[in-house]
Amino acid sequence: MKAEIIAVSDDLLTGKAHDQNIAFLAKELSSLGVKIHRSHLIEDAKETLRATLEQIETTTDLVVLTGGLGPDENDITKQTIAEYVDIPLVLDQISEEKIITYHKNSSLRMPDNNQLQALVIQDSTPIRNATGLATGMFFEYEQTTYILLPGPFDELAPTYTESVRPLILENLFADMKFATRTLRLFGLSEAELNEKIAPFTQATETSFVGVYPKGEEFEVQITARAATGKEAAQEAEALKEELLEQVDEYVFAEKSQSLLSNVKELLSERGLTITAAESLTGGQFLSAFASEMEASAVLPGGIVTYSTEVKNEVLGVSKAITDEFGVVSAQCALEMAEKAKEMFQADVAVSLTGVAGPSSLEGELPGTVWIGVAGATEKAFAKKYHFAYKRNQNRHLAVLTAMNLVRLALLEQSIPDIVFIDDELREDESGEERQ
Ligand code: ATP
Repeated sequence: MKAEIIAVSDDLLTGKAHDQNIAFLAKELSSLGVKIHRSHLIEDAKETLRATLEQIETTTDLVVLTGGLGPDENDITKQTIAEYVDIPLVLDQISEEKIITYHKNSSLRMPDNNQLQALVIQDSTPIRNATGLATGMFFEYEQTTYILLPGPFDELAPTYTESVRPLILENLFADMKFATRTLRLFGLSEAELNEKIAPFTQATETSFVGVYPKGEEFEVQITARAATGKEAAQEAEALKEELLEQVDEYVFAEKSQSLLSNVKELLSERGLTITAAESLTGGQFLSAFASEMEASAVLPGGIVTYSTEVKNEVLGVSKAITDEFGVVSAQCALEMAEKAKEMFQADVAVSLTGVAGPSSLEGELPGTVWIGVAGATEKAFAKKYHFAYKRNQNRHLAVLTAMNLVRLALLEQSIPDIVFIDDELREDESGEERQ
């Protein structure tokens, strides 16, 4: 099945807005095995839309348009489409009532041309907008299915999930059943991931594997289609197992979930709290946990210890350690984690100390980070990383890597190259324990 997407909005061409709709729809449609062979980003202009529609090949099964459904003069999508397919626009009662009620309830004056927003292509299936006023449309014209959707992404995405996807399945895949499986991964680059799963990413008649970067994480979505739900599920499951053979060590969830909420869930399930002492990340680890709902159940507090003095005087890392080993050291990372654990009475504590860049520190190259973890395993441990990207990417990666370390430690998975420091190594040469 072939599809084209047309995003109509001046904002996208003037740089006021970035396209989210094409990206979202491409992912969703690909997951159904629909091949997007072209997408267009065009201005709100009748002639341009008309010219774009005229270029659509007769073999295209599906055309999805977004934007230009509003009541403004420059919202031209449905008028242009109606003229193109030569079907009149008619008033949709339900849309009109929704618009009137909205204006009454919000005590906003209803603009005279608001009825325009309640017009739909005659005999089309109106698509109810989950969060806005512009009504979408679904209809067929000369063997091609047309779908018109609102421009704002926060209207388009829920409308697609609630109404459009079921309409597509019912009308375009009437005898097909779908099954999907999702993997979320962290800890490898996009090139590495693509190399590992390259043989699986070629779409076949019955399956499709899509790779979607989510910041530094990845989502791999497996979709299988078959005549029965059972067959589709079997095929999706088998494909998932084959993929896991290649990338199992990087998979942290078999559902669409961020690494952060995965770790938060793990802590909540076990009734554990977490804290952090952060240097180069300046509170980003703590802030990430605070952004999660019901964060207070797992996060009592934490500390940013950017300077060496604050590490010593506020957190209580011994001066002997920072003097002798420096702040970019396993010793410092371990002390920071242990002191934070004590200070905030938390079950698990993380520390992040290193060189964000661009300059070096203590002879260590930018991107060198020690992460300490106390309380997740019997003995506190630290691990050294070399991220070697740009400053803020290093900081971001350090935060995610720390979350992943906590996850691996809690799940008792093996973590290579970690450093435990016996008490005697924290003693100075005279054999006296450091204070
Ligand atoms: P409404 O009139 O109800 O806002 P509409 O369907 O007429 O909806 P537009 O007026 O074309 O949509 O766009 C509304 C807003 O949606 C624009 O300001 C733009 O920022 C955003 N938008 C439009 N297209 C896209 C897109 N492809 N990706 C992300 N945002 C978009």
